[in-house]
Amino acid sequence: MKATRRKTPAQVASERKLRQDICEIGRRVYARQFAAASDGNISCRLSRDVVLCTPTQICKGFMQPADLCTVDLDGKQLAGQRPRTSEVLLHLEIYKADPSAAAVVHCHPPHATAFGVARVDIPSCVLPEVEIFLGIIPRAEYETPGSPAFAATVRPFIGKANTVVLSNHGTVSWGPTLERAYWHTEILESYCRVLLLAQQLGHVERLPARKVNELLALRERLGGGLDPRRQTGAPLPVNTDFGRSAGRRVRRRHPT
Ligand SMILES: [Zn+2]
Repeated sequence: MKATRRKTPAQVASERKLRQDICEIGRRVYARQFAAASDGNISCRLSRDVVLCTPTQICKGFMQPADLCTVDLDGKQLAGQRPRTSEVLLHLEIYKADPSAAAVVHCHPPHATAFGVARVDIPSCVLPEVEIFLGIIPRAEYETPGSPAFAATVRPFIGKANTVVLSNHGTVSWGPTLERAYWHTEILESYCRVLLLAQQLGHVERLPARKVNELLALRERLGGGLDPRRQTGAPLPVNTDFGRSAGRRVRRRHPT
């Protein structure tokens, strides 16, 4: 008979806490209207190659710890009474490519998703928190949700970003803890809402490069690592056209 490896009391306690944490993040995702009905999915690592994730067809606002499932990095379900979410492949793509990723949150927050539907790149150099905690927010190509091709759409951005907009779909963010992975989504959604409101007012002012560099230095001091733009020398601003398209409402310093 094949021997089953028993979990230590510390592993049991840790898993119990992570199950509760996923349910708590689910409640926040649903309460903030980041996921309608059974939309979205949440996961975290239990070990290097075992992942705890939400099941398919469940409202994220009302999950119980026993509803969750475990999978290996190939997506094979190891435990759980409900079938795992098909979108776990997206999460696994991130875990496989980034050993520092310990949690992933995927949902459909409306303002950020609107950028994905309009296929407009998220502008940079506007709000300090976004520069410090998110950096550049790329937009992945559209693929059918749940498919291996869909999971692969985020691959080019792993290691260069912690939050990605999924074209015509939603968002995905990751981090060293469930809380941090969720925060990245919340920061993005709040940012996109502000961007759309400012655009309606007629103008989106950019922070000057000198001030953005101060923020990126602060990011490094806070342990967020070197911003990829500083690594590669890529330009700091992204989508500088955003907020400048309404010609008739362009701000005039000296009205005539
Ligand atoms: Zn989705």
